[in-house]
Amino acid sequence: MSSGPGVVVIGHGPAGAAAANAFREQDAHTPITIISGEELSCYSRPRLPEVVSGKVAPEAIRLHPDEWYAGRGMKLSLCQNAVKLDTAGHRLELPNGEIIFYTKLVIATGALPVQPPIACLWNGCMCCVPCRMP
Ligand SMILES: Cc1cc2nc3c(=O)[nH]c(=O)nc-3n(C[C@H](O)[C@H](O)[C@H](O)COP(=O)(O)OP(=O)(O)OC[C@H]3O[C@@H](n4cnc5c(N)ncnc54)[C@H](O)[C@@H]3O)c2cc1C
Repeated sequence: MSSGPGVVVIGHGPAGAAAANAFREQDAHTPITIISGEELSCYSRPRLPEVVSGKVAPEAIRLHPDEWYAGRGMKLSLCQNAVKLDTAGHRLELPNGEIIFYTKLVIATGALPVQPPIACLWNGCMCCVPCRMP
C-alpha cells in the first residue's frame, strides 16, 4: 500500500461500496478509507425485513466480512458521520474530533425523499385527515 491520505468515501451504501470497489479495481495500492454513520458496513437493504422480523442477525446481511475489506486495503470507519468538510484543505472531521485527510473524496451519502408541502401531512397520519375536511 502506498502512503499518503488516499481516497476517502463518505457513506457505505451501495453507491459508496461500488465507488470504493471500482477504484480498487483500477488502483491496487492507494489507501481507501470508508466512513459511515452506520454500525454495519454495506449490507443488503432488500434483506432488511429479515432482520426486522428477527429471522437473521444484522451481520448476516452484510455484503462482506471485515477481512474482505482489510484484504483490499480498505479501512472501515463505522458509527461516525462526517460532520465537517474542508474541501480547500482536503480534510474532513468526525464527531470525535478526528481529522481525516484525503487526496480524492467520494460523497455517497444517499438522499432523503422530498416531502410535499402539504399542511398536517407529517403530523400523525390519519388523524390529520379530518383537519383538511370542510
Ligand atoms: C427495505 C429496503 C428495500 C429496498 N429494496 C430495493 C430493491 O429491491 N431494489 C432497488 O433498486 N432498491 C431498493 N431499495 C433502495 C436502495 O436500497 C437505495 O436506492 C440504495 O440504498 C441507495 O444507495 P446509496 O448508496 O445511494 O444510499 P444509501 O443506501 O442511503 O447509503 C448512504 C449511506 O451514507 C451514510 N451517510 C449519510 N450521511 C453520512 C455522513 N455525513 N457521514 C458518513 N456516512 C453518512 C448513511 O448512513 C448510509 O449508510 C431498498 C431500500 C430499502 C430500505
